[in-house]
Amino acid sequence: RKLYHIDSWGNDYFHISENGEIEVRLKDKDPKSQVSLLSIVKGLQERGMKLPVLLRFSNILDSRIQHINESFLGAMKDAGYTGTYRGVYPIKVNQQQQVVEEICKYGKQYHHGLETGSKAELLIALAHIDDPEAYVICNGYKDEEYIDLALRGLSIGVQTVLVVEMPGEVDIILERSRAMGITPNIGLRMKPSTVASGHWTDSGGDRSVFGLNTTQVIQVVDKLRKEQMLDSLKLLHYHLGSQIPNIRDIRMGATEATRFYCGLVHEGAPMGLLDIGGGLAIDYDGSHTDSSNSRNYSTKEYCDDIVEEVMTICKEEGVAHPTLLSESGRALVSYYSVLLLNILDTNIFWNGEDVEANLDQEVLPALENLLYVRKMLNEKNAQECLNDLNYYREEIRNKFLYGKVNMRERAAAEHVYWSIVAEIKQSYGEVESPEFEKLEQQLSDIYYGNFSLFQSLPDVWAIDQLFPIMPIHMLDKRPDRKAILSDITCDSEGKIDRFIGRWEVEKTLSLHSLPENDDYILGVFLVGAYQETLGDLHNLLGDTNVVSVTYEDGKFRLHNELEGDTVADVLSYVEYEPKHLEALIRNKAERAVQDGKITPLERRRIIAAYTAGLRGYTYYETDQEE
Ligand code: PLP
Repeated sequence: RKLYHIDSWGNDYFHISENGEIEVRLKDKDPKSQVSLLSIVKGLQERGMKLPVLLRFSNILDSRIQHINESFLGAMKDAGYTGTYRGVYPIKVNQQQQVVEEICKYGKQYHHGLETGSKAELLIALAHIDDPEAYVICNGYKDEEYIDLALRGLSIGVQTVLVVEMPGEVDIILERSRAMGITPNIGLRMKPSTVASGHWTDSGGDRSVFGLNTTQVIQVVDKLRKEQMLDSLKLLHYHLGSQIPNIRDIRMGATEATRFYCGLVHEGAPMGLLDIGGGLAIDYDGSHTDSSNSRNYSTKEYCDDIVEEVMTICKEEGVAHPTLLSESGRALVSYYSVLLLNILDTNIFWNGEDVEANLDQEVLPALENLLYVRKMLNEKNAQECLNDLNYYREEIRNKFLYGKVNMRERAAAEHVYWSIVAEIKQSYGEVESPEFEKLEQQLSDIYYGNFSLFQSLPDVWAIDQLFPIMPIHMLDKRPDRKAILSDITCDSEGKIDRFIGRWEVEKTLSLHSLPENDDYILGVFLVGAYQETLGDLHNLLGDTNVVSVTYEDGKFRLHNELEGDTVADVLSYVEYEPKHLEALIRNKAERAVQDGKITPLERRRIIAAYTAGLRGYTYYETDQEE
């Protein structure tokens, strides 16, 4: 049970039940709201839905919105802060309609708003925000159309703030607001000199691509003053980067930004809003450290520290406390989604059987050297034996190339080699050497999972991000295998060989031997942020099936079922016309009938199989529809 560290990363949302299944708790402190993931899968399978499937838990999203808002409001109350807090959700982190809708609906009690980085996202925000006290922060590059839309939003009661990211944008904002007769809310995005540690922190420092440096900030202020528009300058924004693991960086960023904020107040701008961007990290590996997959602070500490920092600087500068905005995305949506996938097959390098059992007498001469190494093996010479084994295996491979060893002999040699290596690892695994370190991974099984890394977990591939991965059942039995995971793309990069360990990254995952006549299902957790959005169509494996689960009035409800991409869908994304493909097959099969190669009935079956293929799921289907 402790193997997977679920108590460290599960954040009370996920735990292992008495009968060895993972349960998700949908409502804080309500044991009745706990449900086993396996029972959800069974229910979905009865309804005909196939794995892989992405589960979304809207109650968890609500709990996160509450957590972040209450943490800021609590920190402000405790510290005697006179301003307030307004969260804005950055749509890019997970743009799915269900996510934005839920945030706007549940977040309304906290006036939680949205952050947009493009025209498309602004259109979503304008339609969904229905609260004059919630902000819509308009970041990103803005053309006239973007600016016009934001200004029109103001006239229908949506509190848009146009954040200047580049000096040139000011002219367009001034020109359009005059032309339309609408007074804008203007914000400035500053380039912080603070550079945070972590994976995604290029947003800080002199070379960051977004925002204005100090000289440009002053130029914009002077322009606004000259144009008599300084009264519209309300907000200062900065963003140090996403997943900032170290609280020290967060504090430094807040200090620097508050000095800028006060500077703008001293310049005569009304201000009132300080937007601290995103960056609130998730403890993916449960280590509570400043490693890039974790964070060395709690949400409470994050809020307390920022509030304290802002108050200290405002006091020194004699400036009123601003309304604080934060653009947390990851911290809001990561826990919301879980990817469930079935294991299709395994490749086992050594199954524990005796090295010399079942060896064909005819191949023994070719194995002489390898078997001799085994005979001589003892604690003192384990490393030496390993070197010899590698040497003799290479020798046999070379002999095979020159036709001096046949295929059966080579196959037996490979088997014996791996068996002896496994024996060395088992008996003398503690020997410290780089070769021995590699053995665990070399001997591990490969478990083939029904998923695409590139579609569902792109950050694992792109930046070695760790997500918690574990079986969702059989957890009352000790796992007996060590494995890495492979997806079903034909790409050697489509594998996962880094897993969460207690103190360091593990190279293998502990798993069970596959159960007979039953699925073995793994869950990949905390995948609600960025993964769906960044995923791609490698090998034409498309979106997975998606289902939302909600606990309401004492009942669990499955809803918003979205069927994953069909083969026809993904083909049309890359500009094939499924009807045209079908027509080509019809013609080809007709020619085969004319040539007497197949019967008309066989043609019918071929066409039926082809069209069923087009309608099918892009992932491996275990039970074919009739
Ligand atoms: N705000 C801006 C401007 C961003 O670029 C990002 C993402 O990097 C975010 C907010 C969201 O950050 P996070 O997911 O760390 O909360």
